[in-house]
Amino acid sequence: MGKTDIGPPDYKNFLPPVIKKNYGKWKYHEIIKPGLLKHVAESGDELYTVRAGSGRLLSTDHIREICEVADKYCDGYLRFTSRHNIEFFLADKNKVEPLIAELKSKGFPVGGTGHSITNIVHTQGWVHCHTPATDASGPVKAVMDELYDYFVTMKLPSQVRIALACCLNMCGAVHCSDIAILGLHRTVPKPDHSRLPNVCEIPTTVASCPTGAIRPDPKTKSVIINEEKCMYCGNCYTVCPALPLADPENDGISIWVGGKVSNARTAPMFSKLVIPFLPNNPPRWPEVVSAVKNIVEVYAKNARMHERIGEWINRIGWERFFRLTGIEFTDKHIDDFKLAPETYRTTTQFKWG
Ligand code: SF4
Ligand code: SF4
Repeated sequence: MGKTDIGPPDYKNFLPPVIKKNYGKWKYHEIIKPGLLKHVAESGDELYTVRAGSGRLLSTDHIREICEVADKYCDGYLRFTSRHNIEFFLADKNKVEPLIAELKSKGFPVGGTGHSITNIVHTQGWVHCHTPATDASGPVKAVMDELYDYFVTMKLPSQVRIALACCLNMCGAVHCSDIAILGLHRTVPKPDHSRLPNVCEIPTTVASCPTGAIRPDPKTKSVIINEEKCMYCGNCYTVCPALPLADPENDGISIWVGGKVSNARTAPMFSKLVIPFLPNNPPRWPEVVSAVKNIVEVYAKNARMHERIGEWINRIGWERFFRLTGIEFTDKHIDDFKLAPETYRTTTQFKWG
């Protein structure tokens, strides 16, 4: 097939030879130590993977540095995981330790495997997107600096996946992560009546609202927002740039816990709200950092081996989770969405912790 600029190139063209040769024929894998995986194929071939942390937004200089390391040790082969870890592939066992030593000397954290906190998957934030209620890279950097020790070791009861999305449109994995950091708006969009008639189409703007909160205002040739119906999703702002949503005082962060994608032992789970609002406090977001750290430490101390955060909470009960973490339970925790009753616990069986 000729070259095309539609869609990504076939990934199979970029596989390291040892993976291409043994594709789909792997016998087992093991984690030798934090940041080092070993895969063994039916043919007896071995593949070593060294995992290192990386920021999600990378400078070209830094990418060149990563590529130089891959050229030196891995014949140029590396990949980025869905959580932005870098994985260097080696077929030669003798190069593994020199590679790890060079990565460490260059300041790369090596780890993120097994019962650790791996890189935080996150969204665009203030750097790029138009609807964020918080930054993405900023809080993630502040949180991971504090949790660094959990990246380079495997001392937690199980994997802890953390995600950040800077608004509830959710380009991150906040719905299904052990701990989710989610930006939220708390005020309705503010229509700019002088610009709106010139830059926006009224019917598409009205149609963009999932809750029917926008109606046309023939007097101003603009729109009116019904505050009671608005859920601050920002969808209308995507369609109409004269409906800005950002609010420096009222935008902030919520914390959710207990989600997972894995179907090991128990079914995948959605994350649930535990802290409704924390302020945006750049550049180091101390409130968010200490809230996340507290949840990780209480979990590390109380969970059983192999229990994910959601599984641990299901065992001990939400009442006990709130008591152990010292997080206040408020009316904001009660889901009042119209389909919420389906998710309610409908027995009288409470676990008073
Ligand atoms: Fe933009 Fe929301 Fe995605 Fe953040 S989560 S990048 S604000 S759409
Ligand atoms: Fe509707 Fe969302 Fe805009 Fe509110 S923010 S008016 S809910 S589209």
